[in-house]
Amino acid sequence: MTEALVRYETPVPGVARVVLARSEKHNSLNPALIFAINEAFDRATRDDSVKVIILAADGRNFSAGHDIADTCEDYQQAMQDSSPGVSTWSGFLEPGAHGWYASEKEGYLESARRIRNCSKPTICAVQGKCIAGALIYAWVCDLIIAADNAQFSDPVVDFGVSGVEWLAHPWELGARKAKEFLFTADAWNAEEAHRLGMVNHVVPLADLEGFALTMAQKIAGKPAFALKLAKEAVNKTLDIQGQMNAIDQAFSLHHLCHQQNFRLFGYGMDTSNLPHMASAPKK
Ligand code: ZN
Repeated sequence: MTEALVRYETPVPGVARVVLARSEKHNSLNPALIFAINEAFDRATRDDSVKVIILAADGRNFSAGHDIADTCEDYQQAMQDSSPGVSTWSGFLEPGAHGWYASEKEGYLESARRIRNCSKPTICAVQGKCIAGALIYAWVCDLIIAADNAQFSDPVVDFGVSGVEWLAHPWELGARKAKEFLFTADAWNAEEAHRLGMVNHVVPLADLEGFALTMAQKIAGKPAFALKLAKEAVNKTLDIQGQMNAIDQAFSLHHLCHQQNFRLFGYGMDTSNLPHMASAPKK
C-alpha cells in the first residue's frame, strides 16, 4: 500500500523525503494515501538518523485535495479498511452523522494533527495546484517552499461547506485575507501566498527539489534536541493562542454544513457543482 502511493526516500544523510506518488490522480488524497503519509512520517520520526522530513509530490500538481470521486459510504468503508489503529476514534461505518464525523475526524483532522505535532522539522515543497485538503498537508508542515507555478485554493464554499476540515486559514493568511480566500474561492499564486507570509520562499519550479533539500540539509546540521524544542516552543505558542481549539470548533461548523447538504442533496456537499455526484446514494 505504502510503496504504491508514497515513496520514502533518504536523499542525503539526516533527511527523509516523503513523496506523494499518485500523480495519475493528481495526488488526490484518499484514506489509503492519507495513512501511507501517516506511516511514512511515523517511520521518519522513529528513525533517529533522520533530522528533517521533506513532504513533496510527483507530477505537475502537489495535490488536488481530498479524493471526492467516491461516495461518502465508499470513503467510510475505506477509512475502516485503511485506518491503522492509531486513532482514538472509531465507528467509521456507523449510520448518519456518527460515521461521517468519525471518518473525517480521523482521516482529515487527527491524521493532520499528528504530522503537525511530529517532533522533527518538516518542509513541504509545493508545485502546481494545492487545493483544499492539500492545503492541510502544506500547512501542517513547519516550512513551505513554493515553486513559482504554485496555486493555492480552498473552493469548498462553492460546494456548500464553510472551509476545508483543518481551518488554519486565519492563522496562515490573517483574518481578513482568510475571509476573502474562503468567500471568493479564488486560487492565489505563490507570490501572493509569500506576501501574506503563508510560504517561506518562492523558487523557480526547476529549483524546487534542490532548494528544499539544501534547506533541509542546513537544518539537519543543527542539534536535534534544540530543533525539536524550537518547534515545540512555536507550536505551543500557537496552542496557547488557541489555534487547536479554533481548528476543532471550525471542524464542528464544517460538519454542520455537511449535515445541511445531506438534507438538501443527499450528499455532504452541494452536488449541483459536482456533476459526477448527481447519482450519489441518498443517506
Ligand atoms: Zn468534510
